[in-house]
Amino acid sequence: MIDLHGIVELVSVRELSSAAGLDACGVEYRWLDDRSARELGAVVPPGWHALLQPEAGTVRADLARHVFLELAVAGGATVEAGRRIESLDELDADIVVVTAGAWVRDLVPDVPVEVTRETVAYFHHDGPPMPAIVELDEITRGHGLYLLHDPVHGVKAGVHHGGLEVDPSSGGAPDAESVERVADWVRARFPDVDPEPVAAETCLYTSTADGSFVLERRGRIVVGRPARVTASSSRR
Ligand SMILES: Cc1cc2nc3c(=O)[nH]c(=O)nc-3n(C[C@H](O)[C@H](O)[C@H](O)COP(=O)(O)OP(=O)(O)OC[C@H]3O[C@@H](n4cnc5c(N)ncnc54)[C@H](O)[C@@H]3O)c2cc1C
Repeated sequence: MIDLHGIVELVSVRELSSAAGLDACGVEYRWLDDRSARELGAVVPPGWHALLQPEAGTVRADLARHVFLELAVAGGATVEAGRRIESLDELDADIVVVTAGAWVRDLVPDVPVEVTRETVAYFHHDGPPMPAIVELDEITRGHGLYLLHDPVHGVKAGVHHGGLEVDPSSGGAPDAESVERVADWVRARFPDVDPEPVAAETCLYTSTADGSFVLERRGRIVVGRPARVTASSSRR
């Protein structure tokens, strides 16, 4: 369920990287020369730097979800699927934990999150899985563009946080301009990946202003959601 292919950060200056945080936490990493980065699939722009954190990886979210459900049921939980909760008042329970993703404000209106629709594109890549590769943005200091191993097509890539704010219940197609920008990036940085997109879809990011997690208790209500991203998709 966890593929430990590592993560590479591409940065114009070393201070943009996670090195200081990794040092503070005692997590292993190393700087790559151009040749080592190329062996992992990436071309480092002239004057830039590449940091590899080999212990990083990706979680197979759907497999993990099933395991969590199985463990919950084994622990005595009852699972009721396919029921929409219109109001928390209809739940007869001492404690209600709300993890409704992008739709959390339908149930708890004042949770301070913004929902944006983001576009991801898929590309054909043969050979051993590539590590996750992210390019850091000089202005936000966060991830600008990213590429991840995809078990179906080879890799998926996208602009991190490039979408517009939306109503999560409204549909939406992938943004063609974003797909084009990502394809240009793939063409420039990853010579082993076919830069012609084979598919694109959208996902919803549910973000707090500072990208932190939400975990709050309000009486019998507990609200939780991960930092930044949540589900819902629309394939091209
Ligand atoms: C195409 C795609 C690609 C993604 N790629 C990545 C990635 O590379 N990395 C990453 O970290 N994340 C990625 N994500 C996001 C990842 O799936 C989410 O981070 C994760 O699912 C969020 O979990 P969550 O439990 O907060 O919300 P969700 O998984 O959205 O779960 C919320 C659940 O609450 C249910 N719900 C909402 N309102 C109600 C209601 N009123 N009554 C009953 N049920 C309700 C919904 O139906 C849903 O099942 C991607 C998502 C998509 C769609």
